[in-house]
Order: sequence, then structure tokens, then C-alpha cells
Amino acid sequence: MKEPVHKKGIIPTEIDIFNRFYEYNSLFFQNKLPIPFFIVIHTRKTIGRFSCEYNENGDIKNPIIEISDRYEYTEAQLKDIIVHEMLHYYLDYTHQNEPQEHGKRWKQMALFFNEKFGTNIQI
Ligand SMILES: [Zn+2]
Repeated sequence: MKEPVHKKGIIPTEIDIFNRFYEYNSLFFQNKLPIPFFIVIHTRKTIGRFSCEYNENGDIKNPIIEISDRYEYTEAQLKDIIVHEMLHYYLDYTHQNEPQEHGKRWKQMALFFNEKFGTNIQI
């Protein structure tokens, strides 16, 4: 009798995050987003986080995407997490910052992605 296939989840490394960012930037964002910094964090509470600073003219600098390696993810989950952060990045990068962390524009984009690209971003 064959052993059941034990499929392990993905524990992301910085290279994994970079490769996926690169792919999604091309697929979903017309390669508009400059490559940010990627940091693997080890927190249970924060799974993903986008942060950046701003120049005097409102342009962003030092964009960072952080993803936790505390969990094993499926391919689909990891995609949702990275795209979630990329939506934050996109809005900040295009000067559409919102007062709330998940404001109206962010929610609209997430909805659009879920409908058009089959992601399952929690809104
Ligand atoms: Zn968020």
C-alpha cells in the first residue's frame, strides 16, 4: 500500500516572497511597483505587513513587505497574503493613501481582485 502523500505547507523565505511579488507585479500591477524590501518576521499575530516612509512631496520611500514564517501556508493563502500587502503598497505608491488601514479604496481593490483574479482576500 502506498503511503499517503503528505503535502507540507510553505514556510516562506525572502526569496519565496520576492519570486511571488515579481510574478504578481507582472500579472496584476503591470510591473508598476518598484521592488520593495522583503523581511521574514516570526510573529504569530502579524502575518503580513506593509510599511513605508514618505518624502516631502508625498512620494513613498523605503517600502517594506514583511511576512511571518510562523505558519505553513498553502499556495493560495500565501498569494492572498502577499497580494493583500501589495494593495497597500499600490495605494501608497499611487498617492491614494487612506486614513483607515483598510479603507474604501483598499476594499474596492480587494473585491475587484477576488472577483477578477480568484483571490480570496479577507475584506
Ligand atoms: Zn492590511
